[in-house]
Amino acid sequence: MKKVYIIISTYNEEGSVGMLTQSLEENLSTIQNCSYELVFVNDGSKDQTFVKLLDLQKIYQNITIINQSKNFGHELAMTAGMNYAVEQNFENEYAVLFMDADMQHPPEVAAELIRLWLAGDSLVLTKRTDNLDKGFRYKMMGNLYYWILNGISDVKIPRNMPDFRLLDKKYVLWMSSLNEHDRMFRGMLSLIGLTNATIINFEAPKRFAGQSNYNFLNLYKLAIDSVIQFSVKPLRIASLIGFLGCVFSFIFLTVSVYINFTNNEPRTGFLTLLCITVFFSSLTILFLGVIGEYIGRIHIQVKNRPLYFNDVIKKK
Ligand code: UDP
Ligand code: MG
Repeated sequence: MKKVYIIISTYNEEGSVGMLTQSLEENLSTIQNCSYELVFVNDGSKDQTFVKLLDLQKIYQNITIINQSKNFGHELAMTAGMNYAVEQNFENEYAVLFMDADMQHPPEVAAELIRLWLAGDSLVLTKRTDNLDKGFRYKMMGNLYYWILNGISDVKIPRNMPDFRLLDKKYVLWMSSLNEHDRMFRGMLSLIGLTNATIINFEAPKRFAGQSNYNFLNLYKLAIDSVIQFSVKPLRIASLIGFLGCVFSFIFLTVSVYINFTNNEPRTGFLTLLCITVFFSSLTILFLGVIGEYIGRIHIQVKNRPLYFNDVIKKK
């Protein structure tokens, strides 16, 4: 029989895990020909989440708890859950479904993702039509972030695609072949390619209990991480600025020297000095950029990413 591992990253969610489990059990029990396991990753919660999960484990058959030794953050919680699924070496077909613990990812939509997988889709993503938990300011910041990110990043990351998705075994193995240290699931999936994805829309309700764990600093770190992870363009900017500075100061310098020689009246040396200073500082920036280009190559090489992902389809 096929199996779905449902990975639920959980940080301070004592108020939601009970409701989520109950609702998932109700929604998933209607699905035929497929077993499932709820894998709660307790990401170093400081409240009673862990105790609540142990209680739930006593009531329900198919709950596994992965208890992180401290709070490692959402991305690593998802990674820990995914690695658990891979390590099970489940022989038959399996899929991994990622969702949040706060009921913002509705269990009925999770059931829909699984149905699509059973019908043959290998990568099922969700698109949020609205997020009732976030205000206007947050959404504007989000838009700006994606605009900048997709402007400078080599990998395009679509907007409003939350970490609520189903990957079949093939995609799971591809994802786990990416050994990057700073992990960002959205970007990594885009790197693999989203061409064959099925996308379904849903509206994210307000969180069931507790409060959002993402504050401005977290998001800032995620923003910096994702730019650095998927682009070497910031390094290239140095060489561009240096190059432009060199060109312009050289032109001004030439003009200024020319004027000096053609005018009978000798000019003061201020402009010439300025040009020389700008020229040499631009040269320094240019060479910093050149060093940056080499560092960029090292940056890409040490990630040791697979060069491509594909299926081989032979004639039957
Ligand atoms: N989460 C986690 N580790 C963290 C922060 C959050 O596992 O360090 C979980 C959290 O319990 C939730 C999900 O990640 O299930 C999304 O977090 P949250 O709801 O706070 O983010 P938002 O939906 O507000 O973007
Ligand atoms: Mg949430």
